[in-house]
Amino acid sequence: MQKPRRIAIDGPAGSGKSTIGEELARQLGYLYIDTGAMYRALTWLALKNGVNITDAAAMEELARHAEIAISRPNIDDGRQYTVTVNGQDVTWDIRNAAVTNAVSVASSHKGVRAIIIGQQRAIAQRDGVVMVGRDIGSVVLPDAELKIFLTAGLEERARRRSAELVERFGPRNPALPSMETVLEDIRRRDYIDRNNLQQAGDAVVINTDHLSISQVLEVIHRYLESRT
Ligand code: C5P
Repeated sequence: MQKPRRIAIDGPAGSGKSTIGEELARQLGYLYIDTGAMYRALTWLALKNGVNITDAAAMEELARHAEIAISRPNIDDGRQYTVTVNGQDVTWDIRNAAVTNAVSVASSHKGVRAIIIGQQRAIAQRDGVVMVGRDIGSVVLPDAELKIFLTAGLEERARRRSAELVERFGPRNPALPSMETVLEDIRRRDYIDRNNLQQAGDAVVINTDHLSISQVLEVIHRYLESRT
């Protein structure tokens, strides 16, 4: 069998998708696409333009005309990739609290998802893609050659998110949210995301609670080898 051309990695917030996905893509020389960034970019645009994120028709209209692009990092500032909306670099802006709080609702509209999913499928036409998200193996690329579903307990996911924030803002930054706030945010996002998160029946499920990044990658490589 040939090397899998498309690898889907799904899982809830903080399950390690983006760290694992980026590293795996680097090791394989594949394109890395974080689909959450696309929903975040659209949400950022809605907030900027004063579009009501609960208005399905308005959000769909916005999605239809927004030009969202993900490309290899063009600035060496710790970014995994560069995200632009209508030509504007929003790579860091899409990580702010306002976007994080709004993104699950903004991305819940069927019409919005249909448009964004169409764009994701077009990107996956390219050779060698690692695509991470919530519904890649089940909805976006149901025929992906390898599907991984990462899980981790709520507390472990909150711990990872906190560590990420400390890394980004520094340990003594007054803007850092408390562990409790981070945990509550993830719990709330799990709840709103429950319909967006869909595990494919044929996905390999990896619980990452007690695994390091390299151990998770080792497990994935074993599956890759068994399928080639
Ligand atoms: O992965 P990340 O946390 O950046 O994703 C942001 C949000 O985008 C998720 O909370 C979810 O609401 C939405 N999303 C989605 N489907 C995907 C990826 C992300 O609905 N494939």
